[in-house]
Amino acid sequence: MLRQALLTLSRSDAMQRLVTGWPAARRMARRFVAGETLEDAMAACRALNAQGLAVTLDYLGEAVTERREAEAAGAMAIRILEAIRREGVEANLSLKPSQMGLDIDERFCYDNVARVLERARQLGDGQEEIFVCLDMESSAYTDRTLDLTERLVHAGFRNVGTVLQAYLRRTPNDLERMLRLGVRLRLVKGAYLEPSAIAYPDKADVDRAYVELMRILLERGHYPAIATHDERIIEATRRWAFERGIAKTSFEFQMLYGIRRDLQQRLREEGYNVRVYVPFGEQWYPYLMRRLAERPANLVFVVGNVVRERPLDWRGPAAFGAGVMTGIAAAWWWRTDHRR
Ligand SMILES: Cc1cc2nc3c(=O)[nH]c(=O)nc-3n(C[C@H](O)[C@H](O)[C@H](O)COP(=O)(O)OP(=O)(O)OC[C@H]3O[C@@H](n4cnc5c(N)ncnc54)[C@H](O)[C@@H]3O)c2cc1C
Repeated sequence: MLRQALLTLSRSDAMQRLVTGWPAARRMARRFVAGETLEDAMAACRALNAQGLAVTLDYLGEAVTERREAEAAGAMAIRILEAIRREGVEANLSLKPSQMGLDIDERFCYDNVARVLERARQLGDGQEEIFVCLDMESSAYTDRTLDLTERLVHAGFRNVGTVLQAYLRRTPNDLERMLRLGVRLRLVKGAYLEPSAIAYPDKADVDRAYVELMRILLERGHYPAIATHDERIIEATRRWAFERGIAKTSFEFQMLYGIRRDLQQRLREEGYNVRVYVPFGEQWYPYLMRRLAERPANLVFVVGNVVRERPLDWRGPAAFGAGVMTGIAAAWWWRTDHRR
């Protein structure tokens, strides 16, 4: 229920205005977001590379309705690619189709993404082309994102891939389609609010589906990404790769910036390739809300910031809100982590 509430709030413009103007929330966002500028993102990139971790950079933004805004996102994507080459960092790019104009017009979005891929190809120039992953958003975009990927591959772009979500009941079919296409895939559990008619409502079913998809992907995929912080699934992946004689270097683990840094490092030390998804930019609100929905105990950090910010104002609305959030977070923690 709390997950649903947070995901519903992630789409509220009024809430976005309120939260983004709140200094404590900005500080909270910094836990999951590398900063607001490209320079911040490149600094995070260098620091992660120094620990042996590769990066995928994401300029935050989604559900764009203005052509100008989508074109600006395309221009920023190109600036990111140029910065990656210029600085020689180990990084690629993640893009949200709805940020590139998928809601405006499919042809317009295609052209916008194709310009980015073309630049990534040029920047290869004798070296490896920079890979661009089309993130998967809510189910309203699934067909259009897969179609877009397919059209780009058919147009000759080999440096594009996309994401499949284990919680969607349709994903086994989509996986077959994408394997036939031969694109690089990232497997995730899925981060959006979906009706049970199309997505498994129970975590156990999502986890089971994830493991089944992971096995197929490891055997038949083209350098797939197993993107999860779930230790049980990571262990199942390691076991499967070992049993099937699949080389550690033929796939990568991916995790989100600021989450389970210990695990990222441990896997790297064990010889696995690990890539960290590094988001940056000013549009961090929906991204932050999805991270809170995944783990409502994160609300405790928000509360901590509120208390630090207003230590004397215990009767104010912020303190009241903080109290309610603490209660919810504590109840959630007790129900899940504590019993595990
Ligand atoms: C690299 C990457 C790219 C992604 N791209 C997409 C995408 O394109 N489309 C999409 O729908 N989803 C995407 N996701 C999000 C994904 O769908 C899940 O919502 C998210 O990864 C949490 O699920 P989990 O697999 O970690 O498992 P969970 O069962 O949710 O979590 C397992 C454990 O991981 C830790 N953990 C998980 N989330 C958090 C958090 N927010 N804060 C602190 N600890 C946490 C906790 O210890 C938790 O017990 C992406 C995730 C990653 C790692």
